[in-house]
Amino acid sequence: MSKQLILALSKGRILDETLPLLADAGIWPAEDLSKSRKLLFDTNLPDVKLVVIRATDVPTYVQLGAADLGIAGKDVLLEHGAEGLYEPLDLEIARCKLMTAGITGAEPAHARRRVATKFVSVARRYYAEQGIQAEVIKLYGAMELAPLMNLADEIVDIVDTGNTLRANGMEPREKIADISTRLVVNQAAMTMKHDRLKPLLNRLREAVTSRR
Ligand code: ADP
Ligand code: MG
Repeated sequence: MSKQLILALSKGRILDETLPLLADAGIWPAEDLSKSRKLLFDTNLPDVKLVVIRATDVPTYVQLGAADLGIAGKDVLLEHGAEGLYEPLDLEIARCKLMTAGITGAEPAHARRRVATKFVSVARRYYAEQGIQAEVIKLYGAMELAPLMNLADEIVDIVDTGNTLRANGMEPREKIADISTRLVVNQAAMTMKHDRLKPLLNRLREAVTSRR
């Protein structure tokens, strides 16, 4: 294994909250991420490099060891599965909830419920646990549109304030999970690169606790 540690960051909303946390932990990119088309970055720490990738790709990179550690939303981790991953630290950023939602005031359909979501495995597991028959429809975005267009009776999606739902005539129903951003570590790297990983984990843990 190389001497370098590769840290995979989720693009998008999480990144905006991740960079200040990394800075608190004494880690910053050698150049401005937002002004570059690059995907692989040096940092101020000679043995740490960053990759910036799609949030849903982070667990795959870390699981397969292409990155030693990564930063991803719990929603993405629940959907992907935790095989080959340690989850040693809750970074306590990008907090939200994974919820079911439907058209305001509408009774949930009692027969086979049609559910639109990008969290297909989470949704299947959830409805099965509830003893509700569900047909889960995979979408990649704009979940709020599905019930309005009569594509689905309900959606499973991330909810923060609920404003997007309400703006589309929908209401949150049941909470499936509380979500925040987590640090994940490749299980083999945790053993083989323990000496290099440990100080990095400690710095991140301190940065998180000092914000409470
Ligand atoms: P996507 O392209 O998958 O929609 P986002 O940048 O919107 O990417 O979301 C990435 C991650 O940020 C999600 O997996 C989730 O953990 C978190 N997140 C998404 N929406 C919110 C929100 N409204 N409030 C807080 N965290 C959120
Ligand atoms: Mg989004």
